[in-house]
Amino acid sequence: MTGLNVLQTLHTTLNTPRIGARLNLQRLTRSVLIPRSMPPSTPLEEFALIQRLAERFGTIRKKNVLGIGDDAAVILPRPDHALLTTTDLMVEGIHFDRRYSSLHDIGYKAMVRNLSDIAAMGGVPKQVLTSIAIPRSTTVEDVEELFKGIMLPAKQHGIDLIGGDTAASPQKLFLSITLMGEAKPGGIIRRAGAGIGDEVFVTGTLGDSRAGLDILQRKISKEIPRSCKTWLTQRHLRPTARILEGQRLARYRLATAMIDLSDGLSGDLRHVCDASGVGAHIHIPHLPLSNELKVFSTHTRRAAHDFALHGGEDYELLFTVKPEHLLRIRRWTNRGLVNATHIGTITPKRHGLQIVHSTGIVGPMPIASYQHFRRLTRSQPTATTRRPR
Ligand code: ADP
Ligand code: MG
Repeated sequence: MTGLNVLQTLHTTLNTPRIGARLNLQRLTRSVLIPRSMPPSTPLEEFALIQRLAERFGTIRKKNVLGIGDDAAVILPRPDHALLTTTDLMVEGIHFDRRYSSLHDIGYKAMVRNLSDIAAMGGVPKQVLTSIAIPRSTTVEDVEELFKGIMLPAKQHGIDLIGGDTAASPQKLFLSITLMGEAKPGGIIRRAGAGIGDEVFVTGTLGDSRAGLDILQRKISKEIPRSCKTWLTQRHLRPTARILEGQRLARYRLATAMIDLSDGLSGDLRHVCDASGVGAHIHIPHLPLSNELKVFSTHTRRAAHDFALHGGEDYELLFTVKPEHLLRIRRWTNRGLVNATHIGTITPKRHGLQIVHSTGIVGPMPIASYQHFRRLTRSQPTATTRRPR
């Protein structure tokens, strides 16, 4: 059989509703004795839980996808499209803290982290797999809250839940999300691709998430206006992935390199520069700061630009464009198509990463972004306790 024949046969099979239904039923009959609607706080039973998740979150009506219910999901890829895959593991106590993050928040952010990776490649997110390891004290309602959080941003982008895995965990909650997306092979934007003289842009505002985390962790003793507190903490708990912006930049082949800001500007810019074999200088006064971060900074007497440079988890996009496209990005920003700020320029590798202060003084970019194992060997702080210097 040729490759094409195999695809055609698969396509016919998936499109035969009777067979699709039988495939689903095979697995789900294992839990046939468990009532469809469980009473509140029922102790967890693996297959009943999976059935419920499948019914509530996993129903797919697409012709080219076979989702939950068999040993593997099946996707018929679109011709002339590349498949993008990304996965992210979230561990309680390392990536989130249930004292100030609800299960809904945790699910939501886990999904956004993956969405942001697809955005940074210029791709369109399509299918998601969710694997969970849950402590025995977890109720059915808890798991549903987690999945409502996961599926909220997923639904906004038309993403289908096609599978996952479920296990018990002795104490902590683990959540691993695998997201698949597609892109035209010629429209994929990589970290490697920034050239000397390219201009560096970032979307949105920087440093908010880190300030929000400091507020949530009660590291701030000073009074801060309530509206400002709420906004900053929401930026930490409910970030936004810049999916449309990433796709727009890819579609018009404007970005030469792109990355999403998960570790912080200083660390993530370094990844782009290492991959592209270049240096960069960044203008501190040009870093985009929200009014809320400015108020926070005034009240706490902590430099806003430190938060913008080193604070992680903003999930904004950093990208580079050829100098002739600078005006085009400015026009897009004015028209609300991509909200991006010009923060610097790509330089030869030997210049390294530099910051330019408002005084015009140039200095090396300090490194302060988080690395799991380096810090863990010292005092075991969590990923969410990274602190800008
Ligand atoms: P297997 O033992 O073959 O891995 P499972 O019983 O673990 O099968 O899973 C049955 C079906 O339910 C599969 O389609 C799987 O992808 C799906 N599934 C299991 N756990 C989850 C989950 N947490 N989220 C989404 N789908 C799940
Ligand atoms: Mg399994």
